Amino acid sequence: MKIGFIGLGNMGAPMAANLVKAGHEVTGFDTAAPMPEGVAKAGSAAEAATGAEVVITMLPNGSILRAVAAEVIPAMTSGAVLCDCSTVDVESARAVAADARAAGMGALDAPVSGGVGGASAGTLTFMAGGDAASFETVRPLFEIMGQKAVHCGDAGAGQAAKICNNMILGVTMIATCEAFALADKLGLDRQKMFDVVSTSSGYSWTMNAYCPAPGVGPKSPADNGYKPGFAAELMLKDLRLSQQAAGGADADTPMGQLATRLYESFVESEGGRGMDFSAILPRFEKRHRG
Ligand code: NAD
Repeated sequence: MKIGFIGLGNMGAPMAANLVKAGHEVTGFDTAAPMPEGVAKAGSAAEAATGAEVVITMLPNGSILRAVAAEVIPAMTSGAVLCDCSTVDVESARAVAADARAAGMGALDAPVSGGVGGASAGTLTFMAGGDAASFETVRPLFEIMGQKAVHCGDAGAGQAAKICNNMILGVTMIATCEAFALADKLGLDRQKMFDVVSTSSGYSWTMNAYCPAPGVGPKSPADNGYKPGFAAELMLKDLRLSQQAAGGADADTPMGQLATRLYESFVESEGGRGMDFSAILPRFEKRHRG
């Protein structure tokens, strides 16, 4: 397939490299990052999109996505699919999809879970919103870049799934960390706590697969000085998106709201920036009640 790829940063570069390895013809554009081996460099986003059957974007946020989409949609071949894999607000995802459809293109919002490791290994999970025909067109590419692709519904449904998942993730990480800090203060050994909780009703992905306590459970960023992994500022970005969506949809999300506030202080004034999101455990260790 002829693919245009816009945004070749930490995630986009390995995703594009996997498409090249699978034999696809990829033309890329990024305002700063170098092209991975095998990706032809375009002089602009519009140039990368010209003649492509699928245009993939992997960009930092919704306003950048809107600007890039406004530039690439007029350059795209009629019937081609614009597939945004960035994590952005639901409103931007829907607006971009509407513009693409009005111009005769297919459109998908297909954010990913799995991080940089999953992008490199080709094991991402894609959660897609948009029309079924576009999903079928892009499915073979999802299968190269990932191990699972779920068609979640109409435009915006992929972003909705992503922020709901990550709101659970943020809230659960905090619950797991505050429980470890409480266990410490009660004199309960962390390994014993893990042995019980990981096989009891308090189990979760954050406890069982990504344990925030160093030396406990499977290897995780906690065992590597809390180097990300999934950076605290990306967790904060997704929590903020969940709260923006909750505001727009009039949904009551008190735990999501509190998790957003806690990650906000952690990233902005408690040294969390650049650390894995599980590094919020040492923050709880240092604190006292009230
Ligand atoms: P990144 O900052 O490494 O990459 C974004 C790239 O977009 C950069 O190389 C930047 O130069 C480029 N860019 C910015 N504006 C541009 C423009 N106008 N035209 C072309 N290129 C432009 O970020 P990332 O970690 O690769 O994340 C990309 C997206 O994936 C984000 O939306 C993020 O939330 C999401 N995501 C990231 C992870 C992760 O673990 N890093 C996991 C899941 C989802």
